Amino acid sequence: MKHLIISGLLFVLTTVACVGDLPSSQQPPAPKGTSLSQNSGSGGDQCPNEEETINGIFDADGCPDTIETLLDLTVKDIDTFWRTSFEAQHWTYRAPDVIQGYTPRQSIFTGCGRTIPNNAFYCFLDNGIYYDVNFLQRQVLGQEQHGDFGVVTVLAHEWGHQIQGQLGLNDHEAYSINIELQADCFAGAYGQYVSEGKSAAFRLEEGDLDEGATLLFNLGDVGVPWFDPEAHGSQEQRYKAFALGLDKGLSACYDGFQSDTPAAPQTNNEPDLQQQITDFWIATTQAEIKTYQQNDISYIAELVSPEVATMIQETLDSLNKQGIQQESYFDSVNSYIAAMRQTDSETIELDTCEFWTAQYYSQQSGELVQEEPSTLVPQTLTLDLSQAKWQVKNVEFYEDEAFCKK
Ligand SMILES: [Zn+2]
Repeated sequence: MKHLIISGLLFVLTTVACVGDLPSSQQPPAPKGTSLSQNSGSGGDQCPNEEETINGIFDADGCPDTIETLLDLTVKDIDTFWRTSFEAQHWTYRAPDVIQGYTPRQSIFTGCGRTIPNNAFYCFLDNGIYYDVNFLQRQVLGQEQHGDFGVVTVLAHEWGHQIQGQLGLNDHEAYSINIELQADCFAGAYGQYVSEGKSAAFRLEEGDLDEGATLLFNLGDVGVPWFDPEAHGSQEQRYKAFALGLDKGLSACYDGFQSDTPAAPQTNNEPDLQQQITDFWIATTQAEIKTYQQNDISYIAELVSPEVATMIQETLDSLNKQGIQQESYFDSVNSYIAAMRQTDSETIELDTCEFWTAQYYSQQSGELVQEEPSTLVPQTLTLDLSQAKWQVKNVEFYEDEAFCKK
């Protein structure tokens, strides 16, 4: 089946091909010593003595690149792609505030918590895209062998989540699967941009777009129900979403996954109550992560009532007694506010469906003691505005609350 699907893709895409950065002032030269070079026949090799690797991180000129070069070009190019697309709609574009790589040995602290190995993600809380460099490198050269455009596709997918945030498309009336497939479609639309020769950074070589599609296919859900809150889509669905963007471009990605086309992002209007509450939720979530990470209640103390602060402090004390440090990761793409209810002029109830991953480390040795997989935490926060600023007055946790079942 896999083979058929990939062949089907080739049919859709006709001839496509490996990303390489173009020397700025020259015609794209052909790689040497491969069947590709004979087919493309466009100029000489700048490094004729270098061994060529098909679909590795290698330039069309045959010179090896590093993963950093590839990532650098990718980031610049996807940024240009989206900036141009927004400008065409007269929308204000906001680039991610952070784009940062990490390694499994050198995890970093993000607005969504500590990074985890073998991952790439978008963090809505700090508008950042993060990726494990080794993980991406393995996609090109290691066992996964998804080639360089596979790596590009990973970043294009994460960037898609960033765009969803700007356009209000991460509407959690939608299922997770729709949000993920739309990000795949956006990655495909970027692939179309490159394949149409609009990219200043890349030209495609044979097999490139297949690399992106194959990667998404291989990352597709197997045995995960479509309505699962973390569903990304089956292999076929992910492949098709990518192919849709590739074939029909961005407008199909908007139309295909949402009932409405996006509204222009709000710029400098007075933020309404809903926005204020959302911002407050983001701030407390970040503060909570920091509180546990730094073992310091002061990060969250001002945002919560004294009662809630005491509750958190008790948890910290209990962890300290056990010699344990807690690091949490907040999945900001799949977490959402399920409902807001204004109960009186100073009180709002907020139902949230939050996905948390927790890791526990020994304070003494720094070794990982325990790891909790991503867990849905449904909760109702009671927010209070009596002191002229928002505070979390009360938190109610639920085992399995109906408002998180779509
Ligand atoms: Zn995603």
